[in-house]
Amino acid sequence: MSELNERAEKAAKISARPDRYKVCEGCESIVGRNANACPNCHGYRFDESGERVRAQAAVLASRPQISVTPDDLET
Ligand SMILES: [Zn+2]
Repeated sequence: MSELNERAEKAAKISARPDRYKVCEGCESIVGRNANACPNCHGYRFDESGERVRAQAAVLASRPQISVTPDDLET
């Protein structure tokens, strides 16, 4: 499975259950609702609204990776 599909699948799962997640205000990562601090930037401010989580999941699913591989282009 390409990384792009994998991310799209993750985003779909997150969108299906946004109550399980929250969005870091520091780096916009989606983290588990139970996390005390962001594992990515160690921030502790989060937006727990389902709308925000869904919107951010969509952004992450469509955002280009650091590098584009031929696998990504084929999908
Ligand atoms: Zn963060």
